[in-house]
Amino acid sequence: MKFFLLLPLLLLAACTAPPSPSGRSALGDRPGPRGFRTVVIDAGHGGKDSGARSRITGDMEKTLALDTARRVQRELDSSFRVVQMRTDDRFIDLDERVVRASRGGEVLVSIHYNSGVSGMRGPETYYWRVDSYGLAKRLQQHLAAAVPGESGSRGLVRRRLRLTRNPSIPCVLVECGYLSNAAEARLCATPAYRQRLARAIADAIREQSARGDAGMGPLPRHIDAPPSQASDARE
Ligand SMILES: [Zn+2]
Repeated sequence: MKFFLLLPLLLLAACTAPPSPSGRSALGDRPGPRGFRTVVIDAGHGGKDSGARSRITGDMEKTLALDTARRVQRELDSSFRVVQMRTDDRFIDLDERVVRASRGGEVLVSIHYNSGVSGMRGPETYYWRVDSYGLAKRLQQHLAAAVPGESGSRGLVRRRLRLTRNPSIPCVLVECGYLSNAAEARLCATPAYRQRLARAIADAIREQSARGDAGMGPLPRHIDAPPSQASDARE
């Protein structure tokens, strides 16, 4: 008797329970953004964290990333509000970047330069969430079209990082090129080439805002995974 009374109550409770704060859409399981106007540009590394350093040109990743971030802001027309994560050479913890991006932005693009074995060259774009796929694909397409060559680079990569998993907004991390590759490091050292990269990044952002995920093909499947932590992987 008790069972028959209890069952409908349990079903009712299950149906009316509010969505959990860690529900699927909170994990980015939704289409990519369209019509957004506020973009957080995150210049990777900074301060005590130099990031990669080119043995060929001596350039530090943190310096090139900040310069490129400024160029992206200039390339985006005034219809976008750009929030720079940092405007000088200072250290900001990755978890703090996640908090700041989630607070003020509609999308996050984090800018980096890569390092690997000397033969590797070309841009790579990292994303994790479903809502970040369209923007990531556009960024990789525009960057790949802007560079003279690729070799061994991984292109569009789905990887759970703190800046691709943890913000509450669509978030993508771009590696503009390999500072470990002699030819690419020399290119990245020139302002004109960084301007070209910045234009590619800005074009991709503009296109995503205008078109959403249109033309980007089927969305990847959602993967349930916990927030990324410092101990997870190289970032
Ligand atoms: Zn980096």
